[in-house]
Amino acid sequence: MKCSKCQREAVYESRYSGTFLCKEHFFESVERRVKSEIRKQIHFQGRTTIAVALSGGKDSSVMLYLLHKILSPRKNTTLIAVTVDEGIDGYREHGLSSGERLCEMLGIERRTISMADTYGVTLDSIVNADRETIPCSYCGPIRRHLLNRIALEVNADYLAVGTNLDDYSQATLMNVVKGDFDRMARMAPHTSERKGLIRRVLPLIKIPEKEVLLYALLARIPYDSSWCPYFRMAQRNTFREIIETLETAFPGSRFAILSFAEKVKALSSAQTKGGNEEIQHCAICGEVSKSDICPSCRKMLRAGIQIQNGTKYLL
Ligand code: SF4
Repeated sequence: MKCSKCQREAVYESRYSGTFLCKEHFFESVERRVKSEIRKQIHFQGRTTIAVALSGGKDSSVMLYLLHKILSPRKNTTLIAVTVDEGIDGYREHGLSSGERLCEMLGIERRTISMADTYGVTLDSIVNADRETIPCSYCGPIRRHLLNRIALEVNADYLAVGTNLDDYSQATLMNVVKGDFDRMARMAPHTSERKGLIRRVLPLIKIPEKEVLLYALLARIPYDSSWCPYFRMAQRNTFREIIETLETAFPGSRFAILSFAEKVKALSSAQTKGGNEEIQHCAICGEVSKSDICPSCRKMLRAGIQIQNGTKYLL
């Protein structure tokens, strides 16, 4: 097939827009949407530091590459890659080395924070101690805590996360199915500042997962393609299948879900005056929490995982 814009050979068919794109126009289309989100989500005032969450997988690697490509001409903007080592044996080390290669290639500083050093446990040890609970339900919140902590340490103004369009529509649907309006209202990208919480921004929010993968391959971006050993247990897989089915039957569904979520968030933000609710810290791990004990620590307590000195988990 020929490109709908220039008659060169097409490398991609975009079903939701009914177009075929050659390599150059595919790059241009992805970069245009990312630039538009950067303009919308990030307010550049004086010196701006953006901590970029880099797991080493395709999404975070493409995000770092694009942020560097788009923002490196700006003199007052600094990118720092930040990586969480959850302690998943046989998996995380691959992401760490891919991330290191990409940072070296782009000349970007990288910091790593590990669950073991911070809390005295690894995700593997938590999973061994609590075989009833889905690993992702520990991993997700703890990783968010650690990313926020390291972003605070590097004095970042924003924390960029590589959530793509598929991820975002899955998360939105999960919140709808669970009836969790509050969580939906709190979803990134964040439009207002809250004390102790670095604003999370999502530059890839309008890029479908397939386009992220194709961009990584065509631009020859190093990334880790291995799968987390706990992935198959993730609740999210059910929502992934539903979103894929919807998108096949009704092309454009993911964009429609994103647009719906944006409207709900805007409505909720107007009602709560920008989400300035009281922020407190978890009495156990010290992270920002909506309650006196954060959900991760509460789960650890319920699973009988011992907590040492009120500051560290210990198995
Ligand atoms: Fe963590 Fe689950 Fe992702 Fe594995 S699949 S890295 S356990 S959130």
